[in-house]
Amino acid sequence: MKYFDFQGEKISRLGFGLMRLPVIDGDQSKIDYDKVEKLFMYAYEHGVNYYDTAFPYHNGFSEKTLGNILTNNHLHGKVNCATKLFTLVIKQPDFDPRKMLDEQLSRLQTDHIEFYLMHGLNKDQWDYLCEHFDIKNYLRDLKRQGVLGHLGFSFHDTYESFTQILNDFEWEFAQIQYNYLDHEIQAGDRGREFALSKGVPLNVMEPCKGGSLIFPNYPEIDEIKAKHGLSDISNAELAFSYVFDKPGFMVVLSGMNEMEQMEENIRIADKYDYNTFSDEANAAVEEIRDLIEHSENIPCTGCRYCTAGCPMQIQIPMAFSLYNEAQKFRNPASQRRSYDRACANIADCIECGQCETACPQHLPIPELLKKVREYME
Ligand code: SF4
Ligand code: SF4
Repeated sequence: MKYFDFQGEKISRLGFGLMRLPVIDGDQSKIDYDKVEKLFMYAYEHGVNYYDTAFPYHNGFSEKTLGNILTNNHLHGKVNCATKLFTLVIKQPDFDPRKMLDEQLSRLQTDHIEFYLMHGLNKDQWDYLCEHFDIKNYLRDLKRQGVLGHLGFSFHDTYESFTQILNDFEWEFAQIQYNYLDHEIQAGDRGREFALSKGVPLNVMEPCKGGSLIFPNYPEIDEIKAKHGLSDISNAELAFSYVFDKPGFMVVLSGMNEMEQMEENIRIADKYDYNTFSDEANAAVEEIRDLIEHSENIPCTGCRYCTAGCPMQIQIPMAFSLYNEAQKFRNPASQRRSYDRACANIADCIECGQCETACPQHLPIPELLKKVREYME
């Protein structure tokens, strides 16, 4: 395992993200404890010392599971736990950051959290927290008391917001979404360089874009890799090594829920570090980006003129958008959960044609919905 020197501590460059853990009977609250413990112990024994959870993950059971594993294996204080203040609820009348933190300490069965983040922070939430909860002094006090270790925030807003938030407090680290397709959105490379200039290390979320960059059925990508002599490199390896290579990144988080995936990611993390991404790999990534950006899709603009008069209340633009995303990566499984949730009634289409008449793009909607079903179901 490679390590990042963080304020004199060694932090593993691969971190275990505990957001999508294996569950029983598809119930997000029923985490498969035995399976997660095996994954956790394998990671721990192979040098992973950073574990990332959050208040809402698995309806609170991610934090509870982490607490149980740490207690059952006497690992409190031997690894770094990261959890987050859930910023989506800060405007609710009963929100109290200290109450939330106490609940988190109880779930984690500890009196100290090594890394504490504001979750998915944007500028509006940060301003609200400062104005209504004096959050800066709240965090400083808890750090002084030893309840919170290092202070940071995770982020999904614009580059401009990122720089403003970063400049507004003595953050010790932050966490951004980044992978070889998403290197220019949100904070992106500009944000990475800005944080680097301020000496604030970043953690990476979604290095494989939620699994989309695994490309299980994409022969054209295999051809691109072969052309650049990279046939023995898996798609996961290409995605992770791109991120491990970039200066300014501390921990690369991966939500591993199968042992094979854990073993592969640890092998990759053992192999790659800064400045290890080859020119050939860079050329391959450029071509893959180009291929994906030019993939065929349904040219729906999302205007929603079609939905108001649909007698079956079918979420037409949502169905097209999920199809496009799945098609782009040739991976219907990547969108299946959202599809099952939002598009279960597509089969109810009675082909009345109302939507087609309303569509300014003149899309043959009933026909396209059949195509979507065939691909997604
Ligand atoms: S054709 Fe199908 S999707 Fe379009 S309005 Fe009629 S029922 Fe809805
Ligand atoms: S009216 Fe046409 S373009 Fe607009 S959301 Fe519906 S399908 Fe898409």
